[in-house]
Amino acid sequence: MKKDTRILRAGGKVGDEQIIEAARILREGGTVAFPTETVYGLGADALNEKAVSRIFKAKGRPADNPLIVHVGSKERCMELARNIPEKALLLMDEFWPGPLTLIMERKSIVPDVTTGGLDTVALRMPENEIALELIRQSGKPIAAPSANLSGRPSPTTAEHVLSDLCGRIDAVVDGGEVSIGLESTVVDMTGDTPCILRPGKITKEELEACIGDVRIAYDDKVHPESEIVRSPGMKYTHYSPDSIVILVEGENDAVISRMKELISDFHSRGANVGLLLTDESKRILPVEMTYSLGEKDRPEQAAKNLFSGLRYLDERKADIIIVDGSFYPDGIGKAVFNRVRKAADMIIKV
Ligand code: AMP
Ligand code: MG
Repeated sequence: MKKDTRILRAGGKVGDEQIIEAARILREGGTVAFPTETVYGLGADALNEKAVSRIFKAKGRPADNPLIVHVGSKERCMELARNIPEKALLLMDEFWPGPLTLIMERKSIVPDVTTGGLDTVALRMPENEIALELIRQSGKPIAAPSANLSGRPSPTTAEHVLSDLCGRIDAVVDGGEVSIGLESTVVDMTGDTPCILRPGKITKEELEACIGDVRIAYDDKVHPESEIVRSPGMKYTHYSPDSIVILVEGENDAVISRMKELISDFHSRGANVGLLLTDESKRILPVEMTYSLGEKDRPEQAAKNLFSGLRYLDERKADIIIVDGSFYPDGIGKAVFNRVRKAADMIIKV
């Protein structure tokens, strides 16, 4: 059934009436998209099975791909997780509120539908005034995956949310553009050595400075056939627009010359080519349909621009999107490469 999706415009203030209204919808089992510092999430009461199943339905998300539960305080975790390791408490003190999701053993109060049937639960406290006020006003833990149709790039503005989910959700709280633009770092805390299941703004090095050894348990490929991936989200196509995405990785000069060849080849075949370029490349490659990833050495700009750039070029009906992979590959750059490699139909290394 088509829903009449309400648009609530909110500042982050305590007692904001639009947030109170959004919280009411959540308490009554509805679905509300809202900004976090990472991307927009699609929220529902994490302890209400019917409400959570509405998230899966709205997104077209596979039922075995579990959701991150958003909390307003560290204390709330004690109600949802058990055997919380000391290292998890240290990470919460250091990085919460912030873009870090911790996987821990779940308590039975958390329904199967929220965890995709796993005995673990993913928990995070977001660092965004609107998100925190909404969680507090609702009085509930809020399950919230990214607020996009399953498989599409994550939304970084309320407009992106509406372009995927208008008519499928009860409301969106518009809080403007998010600050980071990529999803949280996900760390599994249930084993002896914590494992990173998804890279994000908080890096391995930062985690290790807080709790010692941390392992990496993700790679940048999609594993469509695999049943045994640790994080179910790893096996699904992700972050991709409808256009064909080609990523060219390497040093700036080599990337530019390969992109020139690709552009003239595709143009000669009549294709509509869109480019996602660093500012450095943009000065050299004068093609009409471009979107900026920001300065090559500032990967936080690429993080913020990647998903909106893919959406921008997709909307303008690019047949092919060529992504300039010459930006700085460390820090949050690792997470940007992870997402763009997953979105890519072809990766060219030069
Ligand atoms: P999204 O909400 O779209 O950012 O996706 C959440 C990510 O967290 C997905 O990749 C999930 O597979 C992962 N995730 C959520 N809960 C768990 C869990 N209990 N164990 C492992 N991975 C999880
Ligand atoms: Mg997602």
